[in-house]
Amino acid sequence: MTTYRSFINGEWLRSSSGKTAPNINPANADDIIGTAELATREEARRAVDSAYNAFRDWRRTPAPARGRIVAKAARLMEDRKEDLAAAITREEGKTLAEARGELTRAINVVEFCAGESRRLVGETIPSELPSNFAYTIKGPHGVVACITPWNFPVAIPAWKIAPALVAGNSVVFKPATLTPATAVMLTEIFIEAGLPTGVLNLVLGSGSEAGDEILNHPAVKAVSFTGSTETGLKIYAQVAPRGVKVQAEMGGKNPVVILEDCNMELAVESTAQGAFGSTGQRCTATSRAVVIDSVADEFVKKIVARAKTFRLGPGDEASSEIGPAVDESQFNTVLKYIDIAREDGAELLCGGKRAEGDGLENGYFFEPTVFDRVTTDMRIAQEEVFGPVLAVLRVKNYEEAMTVANDSQYGLSSSIFTSDTNMVYRFVDDIETGMTHINSPTTGGEAHVPFGGTKNTGLGAREQGSTALDFYCELKVVYVDYTGRKREGNLY
Ligand code: ADP
Repeated sequence: MTTYRSFINGEWLRSSSGKTAPNINPANADDIIGTAELATREEARRAVDSAYNAFRDWRRTPAPARGRIVAKAARLMEDRKEDLAAAITREEGKTLAEARGELTRAINVVEFCAGESRRLVGETIPSELPSNFAYTIKGPHGVVACITPWNFPVAIPAWKIAPALVAGNSVVFKPATLTPATAVMLTEIFIEAGLPTGVLNLVLGSGSEAGDEILNHPAVKAVSFTGSTETGLKIYAQVAPRGVKVQAEMGGKNPVVILEDCNMELAVESTAQGAFGSTGQRCTATSRAVVIDSVADEFVKKIVARAKTFRLGPGDEASSEIGPAVDESQFNTVLKYIDIAREDGAELLCGGKRAEGDGLENGYFFEPTVFDRVTTDMRIAQEEVFGPVLAVLRVKNYEEAMTVANDSQYGLSSSIFTSDTNMVYRFVDDIETGMTHINSPTTGGEAHVPFGGTKNTGLGAREQGSTALDFYCELKVVYVDYTGRKREGNLY
């Protein structure tokens, strides 16, 4: 059995805490994969100290040289793609196909960020005075804390660590306690790619102790967080008094809007993939279907039929289409929401219980679930479940559909199914989400395209794409006067 350790100041640390966390395969709770040693508060502080000491030289390393190391990390990820995919599947539970998809995205993002190291350009701006001009340069903040969840245990850390490093920051990486194996593998890859000592530190530990200690360290100048809205807003408030920059990607309650003139087969299949794929454990998962009354019966009948056809099973079996919930606690959260939805008066059409048979009892498998006749005042319409659960809300017309779709504290992703181009563009104007999809699932994205949400989903600059480095850079403005004499007049 493997022991996972924090990586601090160039060394794998034997924690003095005596506290450990088991790494359990959610498809088979008897399969204990390894044990993570959880860092103490003092060890977490040392990780930030180490990043702070390494920052001085790292920021002076030319950006393209930093990019070369990040590019090497992308190549190593490619070389170890199958090992990484197997590790994701074993500790997070998603299917191998989904794990490979996550890795493709992760490698693409890291490659993209490496390329950005040669484009860390500023602008030159002509002055209103003769023989004067201004220009801008981009520099790093200092130590950046990357705090990440378990659902994309390689891609999310990769899309934070790579741009942070390219911009010249040093990093303290605090992954979710549930996924230590992939966090260690990703750290090894960046270290092997040639990062100097201390530039990247890994802290395995709980959010409430190790995470808290990292955030309270005065050397941390920026925090990039992905996880629940509750934790993200708490972190934001915690570091605000120090003026620490925060980028946070948080919860979602992503709607699909289904109009009368849609291609119904496409709408049903895309909604099913968005709602049940990756066990619903994606921040972009479809959790609400807002359907025009006249086609609602047809939609409901077809989505229920489709929900029943998914093959549940361990992610490492080729026949499995949906893996388990990540752990017992997440499984119980899904169960809790089934009760809440029923008590609130939603109509359970399928699923709603643990999946059994064929050895599924050993894992946290949950049947794809559809609730009909959900209304916006029900908790199942407002709160993120993070499981394979779809709420159907029936509406009279497009206007009501948009009121319902936008009645959410979240604003990550959405989609519309219609064959009317005019309605597509009305929808794009009206929907209050950071990303939207036309006639395709709410999930999925590309490495070179910005990613993020509005409202209580997103804080700070968008991740990835043309905006990937914005959060990690400070902009410095330089005024140059080459007249060699006292300025005539003033600039205001
Ligand atoms: P999830 O349900 O995905 O675990 P959380 O928001 O609880 O979502 O956790 C996301 C990440 O934030 C994890 O790495 C977790 O350990 C960390 N975390 C949780 N609470 C805190 C905290 N108070 N301070 C710092 N990090 C935290």
